[in-house]
Amino acid sequence: MAELDQPQRTVIMLGAGASAASKYALPVMYGFFDPDCGTPISEQLSSGLCRIYGDVDIRRINVEDVFGHLDMAAHYRDYAETKTLLDTAYLEALRIELERYVAQRLEIPHPEPTMPGFPRQDMYVAPEETDLCHRALFQSHLNPALDGGYRSTVITTNYDLVADYALRALEKEVWPTSSRAFRMEKLSGVRGRISLSELPSGNADPVGDAGWYLKLHGSLEWFYCPNEDCAKRAECFSAIFDTEWGLGFNALPEHFHPELTCICGAHWRQLIVPPTMAKDYRKYPTLETQWRLAVRHLQEANRIVIVGLSFAPSDVRLTWLMRHGLRWFGDRTIDVVYRKGRHDPADPQEHSVVRRVRDFVPNANVNAYGEGFASYLVDTGAVDHHAVDGLL
Ligand SMILES: [Zn+2]
Repeated sequence: MAELDQPQRTVIMLGAGASAASKYALPVMYGFFDPDCGTPISEQLSSGLCRIYGDVDIRRINVEDVFGHLDMAAHYRDYAETKTLLDTAYLEALRIELERYVAQRLEIPHPEPTMPGFPRQDMYVAPEETDLCHRALFQSHLNPALDGGYRSTVITTNYDLVADYALRALEKEVWPTSSRAFRMEKLSGVRGRISLSELPSGNADPVGDAGWYLKLHGSLEWFYCPNEDCAKRAECFSAIFDTEWGLGFNALPEHFHPELTCICGAHWRQLIVPPTMAKDYRKYPTLETQWRLAVRHLQEANRIVIVGLSFAPSDVRLTWLMRHGLRWFGDRTIDVVYRKGRHDPADPQEHSVVRRVRDFVPNANVNAYGEGFASYLVDTGAVDHHAVDGLL
């Protein structure tokens, strides 16, 4: 329960709008399939989408809706008779093809691997090459030199790596290193790749005092074994950041291939979980742990910064997180950052996302920023106006 005299803790919540506003201009979920964007849409993918949606304009399909459909259809196949099994046999291959497309579409430049097959200890984007908006936001709230910086948490619903690279660059190169465990390392721990007790300092406790980086819907470069009986079932590895495991190298997006297999023989699957009602997150221990941490950190936050999230009512899990996590929030401060559309109301307080946040926490002090991510950073003094000229 948050009290005003508690030490400062900020929770930053990032949605697709934050990555769209980054220098990589990544797509949001609606309009994700764009024949003109340079990422080829394979015949298998377009014909598969046509089997589900009929002959509609592919640009009008929401990618999370596709993930949701495929997951629920796969669940249904567990109980289906032979005819249905035959009719829906294409779904598994379609899901793999979809994962491949999503990985390509959300790919951002990263350094070329120089030593194929070797753990890549230095495979990260240099600080000055990471996205300026993400970097500035993290510097303003997470810098361990600030009051509450070490305690503050980032929660994202994005699968892409924009925030990952910015966070890793800051933690490895910019902020003073110490014996404390950083957020990216701790995320490795929660995935089961390294033991949390092996991380430096007592702050590695998953419910401890320190801040986290939480990816609630999974990540492009996380893989898991879908075999329920496999000893590796509870684990999930990051193809990029768990560099201690050589297999990670082969699973980079450009090397991703569906034949990648676990020790049990099952094909590794990408861990991306769409917001569907049917989804049982307990199937994925790494995600379940992250949701629990997210609730706790929201409950203890004095300040929340929300960038580029819409809180669609259909995302029942995120709605629950906000209501439950903010239930005792009281009159703390919430910044809501979005990009005003042509048809949005002139009064920022009337914008749907702001109203949604008020609905979660009626007595919170909500500041609405409708001019986008870069503009918010200028308004709050996190960056100089000239630094983000091209992004405003
Ligand atoms: Zn396995």
